[in-house]
Amino acid sequence: METQIAGEQGWKLDPLNATFLTGIPILAAIGMVWYTMNYGVSSVELGIFGFMYIACGLSITAGYHRLFSHRTHKATWPLRLFYALFGAGAFQNSAIKWCSDHRRHHLVTDSEEDPYSVVKGFFWAHIGWVMVSQEEAVVEKVDDLQNDPILAFQDRHIFLLGFLVGMILPGVAGWYFLGGVAGFLGGFIWGGLFRIVIVHHATFLINSAAHTWGTQPYSTANTSKDSPLLSLFTYGEGYHNFHHTFQADYRNGHKWHHWDPTKWWIRGFSFIKVT
Ligand SMILES: [Zn+2]
Ligand SMILES: [Zn+2]
Repeated sequence: METQIAGEQGWKLDPLNATFLTGIPILAAIGMVWYTMNYGVSSVELGIFGFMYIACGLSITAGYHRLFSHRTHKATWPLRLFYALFGAGAFQNSAIKWCSDHRRHHLVTDSEEDPYSVVKGFFWAHIGWVMVSQEEAVVEKVDDLQNDPILAFQDRHIFLLGFLVGMILPGVAGWYFLGGVAGFLGGFIWGGLFRIVIVHHATFLINSAAHTWGTQPYSTANTSKDSPLLSLFTYGEGYHNFHHTFQADYRNGHKWHHWDPTKWWIRGFSFIKVT
């Protein structure tokens, strides 16, 4: 059965990804209005949202990005497991596939082979590239990650883990703290649907906005930019010109006053010898 729609330039829409990326924001918006009108919003829903926002977001920036993609530091297995579980809940594919794309992005930034090259347009770099199916999914230069049993397991069960951790877990937390089906829906809508949208676009902004707006204090070799403003929404990943120039550094905002919660998270764990 042919379910893919051909585009003008020969690309084909990925029906699952495109439906997910457009459907979840619509469901989240409808769900939040409906839920708030019927049950209101308490600190519990906001607390579940906040926990999931931090856990899933940092699993992408500290885990997928700075630990797994760039090997800027080491982490013990419980922390790698945490990143694998809550990274799955961020619905950005498995760490192995995410890092394969990201390592290629650094190797061939702005070229035809860059999976999210901003040269192909802001929309393409932000979200378009995820909605298009690749002829063959290229997974390369991630042997080190494929040899990590935690990440190999995550790759095999990525959708089930994402569903359980990213949607069911916040629902169960709502059921436990608020009670009943309504409580489950409160946790599911705020900590699941709405949080998925916010964390998605925080990540997407690095590929689009951080390659479009900002300064280039460290290198003009590619389109990467430093944007302190963007760091406020992206767990500190707005210092992207620094990052492209010094990708082995666990910091993106390298000065002490640069807003980089991911850097503080990694440094915090290093004090208790977990990283
Ligand atoms: Zn990177
Ligand atoms: Zn980049």
